[in-house]
Amino acid sequence: MRPDILNPLFTESDTLDGVGPKLKKPLDKLGLTRVRDIVYHLPDRFVSRRVVETLDDAGEGEQIVIALTPTEHRAARSGRGPYRVLAQDNIGNICALTYFGRASYSAKKLLPVGEKRWIVGRLDRYGDMLQIVHPDHVEEEGGDTLGRLCEPVYPLSEGLTQPKVAGLVAQSISRLPELPEWIEPSQFDKQAWLSWSDALKLAHKGENANARDRLAYDELLANSLALMLVRADNRRRKGQPLQGDGSLRAKLQLPYQLTGAQARSVREIEGDLAQEAPMLRLLQGDVGAGKTVVALEAMLIANEAGRQAALLAPTEILARQHFETLRTMAKPTGVEVALLTGRDKGRAREGTLMGLLDGSIDIVVGTHAIFQDSVSYRDLALVVIDEQHRFGVAQRLQLAAKGKRTPHTLAMTATPIPRTLTLAQYGEMDVSRLDEMPPGRQPIDTRVVSLDRLSEVADGVGRHMANGQQAYWVCPMVREHETEDIAAAEARYAGLKERFGDDVVLVHGQLKPELKDAAMERFASGAARLLVATTVIEVGVDVPAATLMVIEQAERFGLAQLHQLRGRVGRGSEKSTCLLLRGDALSEVGRERLALMRETQDGFRLAEEDLRLRGGGELLGTRQSGDTPFRVASLEQITRLLPLAHDDARLLMERDGGLTGTRGEAARILLYLFERDWGVQMLRGG
Ligand code: ADP
Ligand code: MG
Repeated sequence: MRPDILNPLFTESDTLDGVGPKLKKPLDKLGLTRVRDIVYHLPDRFVSRRVVETLDDAGEGEQIVIALTPTEHRAARSGRGPYRVLAQDNIGNICALTYFGRASYSAKKLLPVGEKRWIVGRLDRYGDMLQIVHPDHVEEEGGDTLGRLCEPVYPLSEGLTQPKVAGLVAQSISRLPELPEWIEPSQFDKQAWLSWSDALKLAHKGENANARDRLAYDELLANSLALMLVRADNRRRKGQPLQGDGSLRAKLQLPYQLTGAQARSVREIEGDLAQEAPMLRLLQGDVGAGKTVVALEAMLIANEAGRQAALLAPTEILARQHFETLRTMAKPTGVEVALLTGRDKGRAREGTLMGLLDGSIDIVVGTHAIFQDSVSYRDLALVVIDEQHRFGVAQRLQLAAKGKRTPHTLAMTATPIPRTLTLAQYGEMDVSRLDEMPPGRQPIDTRVVSLDRLSEVADGVGRHMANGQQAYWVCPMVREHETEDIAAAEARYAGLKERFGDDVVLVHGQLKPELKDAAMERFASGAARLLVATTVIEVGVDVPAATLMVIEQAERFGLAQLHQLRGRVGRGSEKSTCLLLRGDALSEVGRERLALMRETQDGFRLAEEDLRLRGGGELLGTRQSGDTPFRVASLEQITRLLPLAHDDARLLMERDGGLTGTRGEAARILLYLFERDWGVQMLRGG
């Protein structure tokens, strides 16, 4: 149960003064549903302003505070025009205070002619007139203008304004409880940190890096601690030790030798499976590194021990592909491999369910359907989760809770994330890294081409197809809106289809599953030669005969994503090419990304560089794209502070693993504050 002391923070945001249904909506849109969320809604940046005596002292574009006296009101000449108030400084320079739309009504009241006012805003020029458009504040003499010298700029959504958000933040801050300190005292002193509530207050007041660091550290500490609690809980659990005798694995007829990295990973997994505590292991390996065969060997160990194994894929397409691959590979061993997805109905489904229950199925491959309540296993001992990054820790724990005895878990990810982020995201797991590619891979010839040369590129694709080879064409990312991406993809598809006819298929995220599968099927079988897609092909899909990848507006993709996309080619023995089409508005970071893509194919290196490039772009750095589990800590802070938080958490676990001492109790509060409740639930009676 959440400690009572946190109640004021976890009340809904509409308990704040001035928040009704109208404001609730834009707040929810920003994820600000509770007082806690508003407290942690930190400014993106601050505007700092200068007090100037006269307009001559101010530069154009400068944020200023100045005393002006209105001399004349000029109403809009046409219905749409602005409302202007002319005002002069103390030596007679004139400046227009310009208002559009409804704001003009307030201007009339706020700026009576002949009465001096303090104006806060940005000085601009319009024609030969100086002007301030929509002053941020207008104050009477004696008003709080000095308090306006530095103001936060918050992320907004439609329907919110800076003063509104600032007001809600101030109200929320006034409700802060005093919480006990959870940070290790020596660390706290060394960093010269402030208390939690002081840090929050200051973080909203100005660019206080130290305060922001403390808040980020809290989040990182909560995360590390929660993951360690999961790990500790796992060690106490009784699973099923699995001893394989190697009999099934010996029957595999692989056309190749395992790489050193694969063999090492299999040994690590085998060691884990032999333990009573359930395995929690992450197999991290770039696209094409050969994770599938490692997963198969792991599952065969379970089968050798007379138990069942399941492989969970994130999508229907991937489940089918894994099923085909595994069934073919496993054929010489004689184990029974089945497929189960949400689309299986009727007799076939009944048959599979029966087989899982009576144990005649040894390995099942499928989507989430394999964990539905209606599915029972005779003896499920190992769960392999592919493309792990789509599941959060909480979901992972739910899966584990499924069996009578906790099954072993092997998670696989093709996203070679940097070491620090691996720790943050999978800190409760052991990691096996496939850092060695199977031999004989040809490097992918990667080139950057201007989008102006689109028609030449299309010619090249045509020649490629005429040669009997296949290609991918990834469509531009328009904006965040998926629908616009799809519109762009459909337009490109129409153009290419006009040219190449039925050889072209289209796949995107909103296509009906049957249509998507049919298109993929035509491409995989070679019947279609060009696959036009939004980024849905990013995950999975193995067509070794595809040897050309075209990516439009490549500069808009992150390095990690580009790397994943490029990894779709270069899977066969033929030489492959990747064309990165760039638009002309290329930022410095965009340029560097494309250069790196040309330079290296090492996914782990690209991941580290991606982190560096994105981390460097942040100023105060708050909000993250969805790929870290953090909302407060920036990439830069994660890199710098996570190792410290990790050590701190470990120290606390060593001294007080049950979190019962004074600091332990404080740490429980921290876990609830950052909604790592699942960490606390690992504690008996937590
Ligand atoms: P991943 O799932 O890691 O992206 P896959 O398991 O699909 O990679 O393997 C990619 C390709 O490499 C497959 O065609 C597979 O048969 C092949 N492969 C895997 N291991 C080896 C190896 N040790 N030597 C040669 N080829 C391999
Ligand atoms: Mg794979």
